[in-house]
Amino acid sequence: MLPNSKIFVAGHKGMVGSAIVRRLQAAGFAQVITRDRSELDLLDQRAVHDFIRAERPDHVFIAAAKVGGIQANNVYRADFLYQNLVIEANLIHACHVADVQRLMFLGSSCIYPKMAPQPLKEDYLLTGPLEPTNEPYAIAKIAGIKLCEAFNAQHGRQYISVMPTNLYGVNDNYDLNNSHVLPALIRKAHEAKHRGDKSLVVWGTGTPMREFLYADDLADACVFLMQQGYDGPLVNIGTGTDVTIRELAETVVKVVGFQGDLSFDASKPDGTPRKLMDVSRLHGLGWQARTGLEDGIALAYQDFLARHPDSH
Ligand code: GDP
Repeated sequence: MLPNSKIFVAGHKGMVGSAIVRRLQAAGFAQVITRDRSELDLLDQRAVHDFIRAERPDHVFIAAAKVGGIQANNVYRADFLYQNLVIEANLIHACHVADVQRLMFLGSSCIYPKMAPQPLKEDYLLTGPLEPTNEPYAIAKIAGIKLCEAFNAQHGRQYISVMPTNLYGVNDNYDLNNSHVLPALIRKAHEAKHRGDKSLVVWGTGTPMREFLYADDLADACVFLMQQGYDGPLVNIGTGTDVTIRELAETVVKVVGFQGDLSFDASKPDGTPRKLMDVSRLHGLGWQARTGLEDGIALAYQDFLARHPDSH
């Protein structure tokens, strides 16, 4: 990518897309283009093709997706499968038709089989059954990876796929029914503190293990790989370390300052028992995460307070 390259970030209103835009602007890229939903409906094939053909970006980041936590993925199964398939198919195909040579597609660690050995190596893709709660989302993301690979094989494109671990940070979704665990716990701890509750309810048994990456670190890794001209197979992006959900909840309540106890609601699903990325490929390319979990949670909590001043 050159300083005057034209770069389209799809999904710039979301946590990941907005972090990529911030990172690109901080690195001095002057032509970063974005469109919000009212200007460009990514589910509309004609609109997407017309837009990409008219703009002819040099580089595209696909950070647009229908995303959510364990409950949203499990309940809105048709929406997660259909919308993600269509968004990625529209964008990837439109880029090829408009002769966009370089593109980055963002997936997720849930593409790996539920019972795959840990840490998850990129090679474990399609070696076993998926976690049922987020199978629709995972199937869509796997299709996106394969679409990129197919355009590379058939047409010599350089469409790369990266697989971020669980993310959190600025612009996260704090809706208790649809969000991921980390923002949900920030909000629950904040509200419990203000109400003076004795106890905070954590879903599941607290024993599953998850890895968490600060979204600005992810954006840094994405821009790093595009700047390097990385042109290889998919790359995991994570920290390489994980914690139990109980440990996560303990860290969140410490940062937020909630003094009560934790209780566990085992009627809610645990999901996959462990989801830790093997990040040796990424480390080998020369990139490592910077933001520690407690520091990152403190930054995310500041953003939550700024954006939800009336929440208590
Ligand atoms: P997953 O990584 O796809 O399973 O998605 P989540 O981030 O939504 O959930 C991760 C783990 O955190 C699961 O074991 C959940 O049961 C657990 N968890 C605990 N409390 C909560 C909560 O308040 N919201 C969510 N979404 N998950 C929670």
